[in-house]
Amino acid sequence: MSAYEIIEHDYDVVVVGAGGAGLRATLGMAEQGLKTACVTKVFPTRSHTVAAQGGIAASLGNIAPDSWQWHMYDTVKGSDWLGDNDTIEYVTREAPRAVYELEHYGLPFSRTEDGKIYQRPFGGHTTEFGEGVPVPRACAAADRTGHAMLHTLYGQAVRHNAEFFVEYFALDLLMNDDGSCSGIVAWKLDDGTMHRFNAKMVVLATGGAGRTYFSCTSAHTCTGDGGGMVVRAGLPMQDMEFVQFHPTGIYGMGALITEGVRGEGGFLTNSEGERFMERYAPTFKDLASRDVVSRCMTIEINEGRGVGPLKDHIYLNLSHLPKEAIFERLPGIAESARVFAGVDVTKEPIPVLPTAHYNMGGIPTNYWGEVLNPTGDNPDATVPGLMAAGECASASLHGANRLGTNSLLDLVVLGRATAIRTGEVLDRHKPIQRAPLEKVDAIMERFDRIRHAHGKTPTADIRLKMQRAMQKDAAVFRTGETLEAGRKELDAIWHTLATDVQVSDRSLIWNTDLMETLELENLMANALTIINGAAARPETRGAHAREDFPERDDKNWRVHTLARIDSNGKVSLSYRPVHDTPLTPLENGGVDMKKFKPKKRVY
Ligand SMILES: Cc1cc2nc3c(=O)[nH]c(=O)nc-3n(C[C@H](O)[C@H](O)[C@H](O)COP(=O)(O)OP(=O)(O)OC[C@H]3O[C@@H](n4cnc5c(N)ncnc54)[C@H](O)[C@@H]3O)c2cc1C
Repeated sequence: MSAYEIIEHDYDVVVVGAGGAGLRATLGMAEQGLKTACVTKVFPTRSHTVAAQGGIAASLGNIAPDSWQWHMYDTVKGSDWLGDNDTIEYVTREAPRAVYELEHYGLPFSRTEDGKIYQRPFGGHTTEFGEGVPVPRACAAADRTGHAMLHTLYGQAVRHNAEFFVEYFALDLLMNDDGSCSGIVAWKLDDGTMHRFNAKMVVLATGGAGRTYFSCTSAHTCTGDGGGMVVRAGLPMQDMEFVQFHPTGIYGMGALITEGVRGEGGFLTNSEGERFMERYAPTFKDLASRDVVSRCMTIEINEGRGVGPLKDHIYLNLSHLPKEAIFERLPGIAESARVFAGVDVTKEPIPVLPTAHYNMGGIPTNYWGEVLNPTGDNPDATVPGLMAAGECASASLHGANRLGTNSLLDLVVLGRATAIRTGEVLDRHKPIQRAPLEKVDAIMERFDRIRHAHGKTPTADIRLKMQRAMQKDAAVFRTGETLEAGRKELDAIWHTLATDVQVSDRSLIWNTDLMETLELENLMANALTIINGAAARPETRGAHAREDFPERDDKNWRVHTLARIDSNGKVSLSYRPVHDTPLTPLENGGVDMKKFKPKKRVY
């Protein structure tokens, strides 16, 4: 038996994570009277969602005509035809309802002259099934939309008596021998106690894994913990090779400058002062989708037209915009540019560079959020008792490339979907099961091994090596050679982490050394699935741009990658088909799928 005393908690539902997805799931569960615990390693309103600036997509048509079918088309095209069409229909169709719901919950959206929710254009959001002009579809609260969303949802969840366990670090899932999930074990960071949460449903909403890269826009807490837990449970991750690089991270430190800047009329220039996006994307210019803009910037720099003494970045200009527009619509950006780049945006351009921003891949789920564990004869087999939502999941709304403002939408629509589905499948009368104690012991053994690790290499050194390898070898452009080099390097780094990591603090109270090592194990799981998935995919699709395979190969590669990792750090890959069929046939008011057939993606 483990030396740790375990404090038991019994709940109908335990949600891990209190970002937009976790809070929306928690609220939906609690609203139905389900006894719900939300376990989170940071205070809810400090989750990375707080940093979302630009907005949340919905075809409200407040500023120009719009329709959910156009939004669906743009998302399918943005995904480079790798998204699942049932999920894409569900989310884009539900989007207006989700935004009005947020409005009614009290989210302080910016307003138009006549009092409607303000909307701005964002990359890849267009009209007439991609044939028309860009459309203002991003509903925004100035440039602090995520901040407003988190505060609104937290207030609502508390109102419905959800219980929060703040600064509890979830270690691992409790998996039964029949493959179902029955809870989690968590470490309480401020007093060192250990807790088991037994539940009929576990929802992972642990956010992205941006910190696998050296330069990223995400918070230090974005360490892909859900992915780590799932991989250790023997379950697969999906489509991890698709990592979005945001075109405009501040040069040198990565902080994000929202695409909303270009939505409001900002543009990119090279060392010749040229608005080069006009050359690459004649129709949508600076508002082409993110993967496209990031690649064009990289080409400009590689061909010697970067700015600055090292010619290694690009300028983002907004000084031509009226000062009032900047201070009303983009106040946070003006501040970030001043603090992080020393730039007065009313006078000078902001130095920017493509920066790791978002994981399109994640824990595979259906559009209800049920986690998938595909088997040979059933690619859609689910794991009883386990769901996932938000950036840690792959439903797959975003396929190979996410459109800006579709993630905040994903959080609320699919976070809510987990609650709807749980209300349908959860047996309220069944007693809550507690897994045999050996299961807890196994989790505590791993914890103990890391806590007492006495190798020679500090966690921070291993992490930095991993981040640099990912930045170098799994970047905006990739080749078979760089990916193979990266794979080898990551295998070696995995080995160092497994055999030689040094944890110098053995205490259990506010032990950041230990917590960061646990996070690094989770990051490694994400990094390994990214690089192995990428090395095995010989085509260019969405954010995965192979210089040696510049074309998309729909015949062989319009499939989702599934990656599992064994206890020796070896990755095995398999594939599952993309869901082509939308939810609603044309005759019942759905979409005309003839319009959605894969074609070349031009903007
Ligand atoms: C700078 C920035 C700007 C963005 N702007 C936009 C935008 O304008 N529009 C848009 O649509 N998208 C935007 N995105 C993307 C979007 O904000 C994120 O994808 C989204 O907020 C992720 O939400 P989430 O709920 O999945 O996770 P997060 O908000 O990252 O929350 C994760 C939660 O999980 C908890 N957690 C993690 N691990 C553990 C563990 N081991 N134990 C316990 N708890 C754990 C954390 O405490 C936290 O509460 C932006 C992203 C960034 C980084």
